[in-house]
Amino acid sequence: MTAGMTAGMTVEMHESGVRSYSRTFPGVFTTAKNELLRSEDGTEYLDFLAGAGTLNYGHNPEPVKQRLIDYLSNDGLTHGLDLVTTAKAGFLDAFSRYILAPRGMNYRIQFSSPSGTNAVEAALKLARLVTGRGPVVAFSGGFHGVSTGALAATGSAHYKQGLYATLPNTVHLPYPDSPLGEFDSLDLLRRLVEDPSAGLEKPAAVLIETVQGEGGVYVAPVEFLRGLREICDRHGILLIVDDIQAGCGRTGAFFSFERAGIVPDVVTLSKAIGGYGLPMSVVLIKPEYDIWLPGQHNGTFRGNQLAFIAAESVIRHYWADGTDGAFVREVRAKGRAAGEFLTTALTSRYPVALRGLGLMLGLDFSRTGDMSAAKVSQLCFDRGLIVETCGRADEVLKLLPPLTVTEENLRRGLETVVWAVDQLGGARAEATAGAGVLGEVVAV
Ligand code: PLP
Repeated sequence: MTAGMTAGMTVEMHESGVRSYSRTFPGVFTTAKNELLRSEDGTEYLDFLAGAGTLNYGHNPEPVKQRLIDYLSNDGLTHGLDLVTTAKAGFLDAFSRYILAPRGMNYRIQFSSPSGTNAVEAALKLARLVTGRGPVVAFSGGFHGVSTGALAATGSAHYKQGLYATLPNTVHLPYPDSPLGEFDSLDLLRRLVEDPSAGLEKPAAVLIETVQGEGGVYVAPVEFLRGLREICDRHGILLIVDDIQAGCGRTGAFFSFERAGIVPDVVTLSKAIGGYGLPMSVVLIKPEYDIWLPGQHNGTFRGNQLAFIAAESVIRHYWADGTDGAFVREVRAKGRAAGEFLTTALTSRYPVALRGLGLMLGLDFSRTGDMSAAKVSQLCFDRGLIVETCGRADEVLKLLPPLTVTEENLRRGLETVVWAVDQLGGARAEATAGAGVLGEVVAV
């Protein structure tokens, strides 16, 4: 670094204005372990952002670290296009043996370029190729990435402004729950696909997050997901679940849709699948729909060998004991404890709604006047907790601690949130006591 320049100054001088997290959390970070991050000035932060849901196993998890070091020491390949490697075969074997087989699932596994958005691109392209149809049904509030095809399915105007006219053939239906309240989206979908005069070509796919992450932590009801599966079956529409944020154990099961007992035609995974924060994306495809020609969807970085090693390691370490193993039971217990704590200490005292599933939790501040989620997030940061906001207008505080967070640190983080809310709204707490709302099931 140039003499006299701090890291912050260097970034300010050279990096594009598109950066975002670094503005909200302006530390200069150096090391990280499990749920703790350290900055250059020695401050320790509790990380409830966890790489926006990527670090489900925390920073530098021990069960993976030594394997990566050994692999590098032996000059294992790091880059491999889609060549056959022992690292890739190790991941495929572990994923099919410990994730798919116990759940009775049969999917072909596609590796796309390592971002989530590219997995979504691949899924949408494939659905259009399989059906020969154009339209995709997505949901308001959904987030699927920012490359053109995925962006079309994303709801938020922030990402789409100035680009609407360039985005392909997507119809958005209201999600069954949103800031505007509950909505019978199944009935609307039925009317759109069953009425030949609805004005819409029959869709190629329905794309959904079963728990909306960026949209404000809204949880789709089980009956709704089953209804979607049924409509898609009846009309030859592919059901694509985007499990990029809610998958890999976050909601208290490996896949977020397991609670509904449905099997999507296509599933996208990214973020936590790489095990160690390493870039990796996967598209799971029912074998009958795997009609890709060789190389028809490709990408130079679809064979990140270090990610394969890490992904295999976490599957063997955390997921090898069945569909209801110790790890997911622990996630559910922590989710319940967090929900109980927040209900007692926060939502029973303030008009704040709590929604979520497992360890994907949202606190909705839209009814608290000027006590915004952004202010709570800022105060938390000043006190050593990193926690982001989401929702239409950043009205929701989104808690995504590593799933491996200790009970003590989970409690400490939640206490910091309550402390921040008390700082901002102490005077109002008494007046609104009892006005809190438990928005959604927290336990699964
Ligand atoms: N889909 C969902 C549900 C996501 O949460 C995200 C990212 O937050 C994406 C897709 C896009 O992933 P990426 O940022 O890796 O492109």
